[in-house]
Amino acid sequence: MVDFSRQYLSLREQILAAIARVCDSQTFILGPRVASLEAAAGAACSSLFAVGCASGSDAIWLALAAAGIGNSTSSAPGDAVSDAVLTSPFTFFASTSAILRAGARPVFADIDPRTFNLSACSVAEVLRRQPSIKAILPVHLYGQCADWDAFEALARDHPALQLFEDAAQAFGARWKDRPAGSLGRAAAFSFYPTKNLAAFGEAGLITTSDPALDARARALRNHGMTRHYYHDEVGWNSRLDAIQAAVLEVKLHYLDTWNRQRRDHAARYEQLFRDAGLDALSTAEGIVLPFTDPRATHVFHQYVIRAPRRDALRDYLAGRKIGSEIYYPVPIHLQPAMKDLGYKPGDFPEAERAATEVLALPIYPELRDDEQQTVVEAIRTFYA
Ligand SMILES: *Cc1c(COP(=O)(O)O)cnc(C)c1O
Repeated sequence: MVDFSRQYLSLREQILAAIARVCDSQTFILGPRVASLEAAAGAACSSLFAVGCASGSDAIWLALAAAGIGNSTSSAPGDAVSDAVLTSPFTFFASTSAILRAGARPVFADIDPRTFNLSACSVAEVLRRQPSIKAILPVHLYGQCADWDAFEALARDHPALQLFEDAAQAFGARWKDRPAGSLGRAAAFSFYPTKNLAAFGEAGLITTSDPALDARARALRNHGMTRHYYHDEVGWNSRLDAIQAAVLEVKLHYLDTWNRQRRDHAARYEQLFRDAGLDALSTAEGIVLPFTDPRATHVFHQYVIRAPRRDALRDYLAGRKIGSEIYYPVPIHLQPAMKDLGYKPGDFPEAERAATEVLALPIYPELRDDEQQTVVEAIRTFYA
């Protein structure tokens, strides 16, 4: 699916030098390297502030907690009323579990079948039935921003509603001229090693332009401390370490180029599939290629098709040593861990259909033309 060694070999000297500087400094947690990454990442996202933390999952929790959503910062959480946060049922598990960790109640709406992102129409319907929902957490799935015009329109109609971004897959993506990370009240990024901006371990970050949210997030990622051993509220240890920050800062310089290469590969896949006569409007007729909203700048963290007989195709590709992956095979509302939320099969038909049809094909900056041809040729022979 991905050959990480290609990127590593091209940056090896720079990255090892950056890690050596951290070792020489003997400052491993937060400190100047983390502050420097935060400044660079905030600027890249047109956000006034960025707060590094331990993972993307923590970043979602941190963004919500710092905005006062949920009761995870209270020493008597049982006493507080639980806030509801609406997100997509078709995403990585952490989008939902982080809402629970923030001490809030997850609520779902269905997805847009073209982009796989949370559907603002479906959200509007849920809001009619549950007007007390506090926040919406759209996910910029596969590297494409959710329809932010529609979500901002909803927020105008519901002035108490706060918008957050799960931008874990979308560093560098844009909605019109605005970068992911600058769209909501706060955004969460992940630098897990498979993400398009990837650390050498676990790392995450939130962005915001709200100084109060920034200050509270800085305290919460460090056990609610603004002064050593004085705890104003209950936070957690979610500090970013300096080695990860140093690696990320080196890589951030290349991210625009890498994202452009991903887009070029997506365009080449589209051309190759069209040339092979494999481009249908529905899986009843063939494979469906990714749709990019003209207002979005997609960074193709993943290149995801809909495929008839998806599982057989995946086995066939595996037999030819071609990697592919299913993001995600079970929608979150049907995961056993979420059974207490009370959802059932049929509640979100588009998310459920997507889970049976999607297949992610290899895409990463260093992917070669001949490899893309091999992938498309294998898919052509499978359907022939
Ligand atoms: C990766 C990911 C996360 C979680 O990030 P971690 O760094 O793995 O904790 C959250 N949401 C989405 C959409 C992701 O893809």
